Amino acid sequence: MNERIYLSSPHMGGTEKNYVDEAFATNWIAPLGPNVNGFEQALEAYFGEGFHVAALSSGTAAIHLALIQLGVGAGDEVICQSMTFSASANPIIYQGATPVFVDSEVDTWNICPEHLEKAIVDRIAKGKKPKAIIAVHLYGMPFKVDEIVAIAKKHDIPIVEDSAEALGSYYKGGPCGSFGDISILSFNGNKIITTSGGGALVTRDPKVKEKVVFWATQARDAAPHYEHSEIGYNYRLSNICAGIGRGQMEVLDKHVGLRRANHTFYTDLFKNNDGVTVFTEKDEDRLSNHWLSCITLEASAGFTSEELRLALEGDNIESRPLWKPMHLQPVFKNHPYYGTDVAERLFENGLCLPSGSNLTTQQKQRINTVIAQIV
Ligand SMILES: *Cc1c(COP(=O)(O)O)cnc(C)c1O
Repeated sequence: MNERIYLSSPHMGGTEKNYVDEAFATNWIAPLGPNVNGFEQALEAYFGEGFHVAALSSGTAAIHLALIQLGVGAGDEVICQSMTFSASANPIIYQGATPVFVDSEVDTWNICPEHLEKAIVDRIAKGKKPKAIIAVHLYGMPFKVDEIVAIAKKHDIPIVEDSAEALGSYYKGGPCGSFGDISILSFNGNKIITTSGGGALVTRDPKVKEKVVFWATQARDAAPHYEHSEIGYNYRLSNICAGIGRGQMEVLDKHVGLRRANHTFYTDLFKNNDGVTVFTEKDEDRLSNHWLSCITLEASAGFTSEELRLALEGDNIESRPLWKPMHLQPVFKNHPYYGTDVAERLFENGLCLPSGSNLTTQQKQRINTVIAQIV
């Protein structure tokens, strides 16, 4: 059997281990230390003047603390893009709140401005104004930032920008992760850069960062003994993991370039098949990191996404359907949904292809061979 080609596997740059070794040498084997501070500084330098970053144990933890910071509690409602990974929505439930799911639009596959507006107006009419809007840059593709921000401003509802898949993507020249009232990043093993597991919360308010770090370290009040006046969490990033993150920040731009080159590779591969569309930026306003290269298929392709998936699997190559919308998930099926079938059709007709920044020429050759056969 050929060696497995993964959808998106970790890709070390080379210096990560130096930072990890330093942590061992200085005995900073803890969820705080020089690597945690250094990693936060590297991320703050990336976002630029005025941004503050709290390094956390996961992107999910970052969304959870974002909702807590925004005052989301039992009985509240939070709007969430339906087409996303479940981690975008789960923290709403952790807080005892109700998710209100909204469909995608066809250009960016992200939260649809029209249905968002309808959802807000309808929820207010029913007696509850949503406490927050969770908008996601799916597969690294920036959502309709201007439109979504305008709607949020009009109704005075804060945005939690889920940029877990979009570190290194840009909208009108600004980095994804800088557009929310609070933004979050993920450094899970399959993301654009990884700390093995990890995440971050991005804010313009230094007091918010301070509060988030306080909650993430068990909410210990200032006292010689352990004194608590709030519920805390164990959500801080390990100093070992943060060391990996410091090394990964040095290769972020390079790895985004490689992911974008994968996207060009697939665009070439399918250029003679009208029934296959490679998911691409629709205008000059957005630059996607192309975290995952995705395609959608029409009947004229001559094969289905499932047939292609199985053909790739036959050569031990991993591919995966697009995210199954949350309003279709058994666990969320009783929650409100606003939209039509845009996300559902993307799920039915789409496929994510191997997209690691470490894909070799030889591996691309194998992918090419399988796809050429089925096309
Ligand atoms: C990965 C991911 C998350 C969660 O990040 P973790 O670090 O895995 O907890 C949240 N939202 C989206 C869209 C993701 O892809």
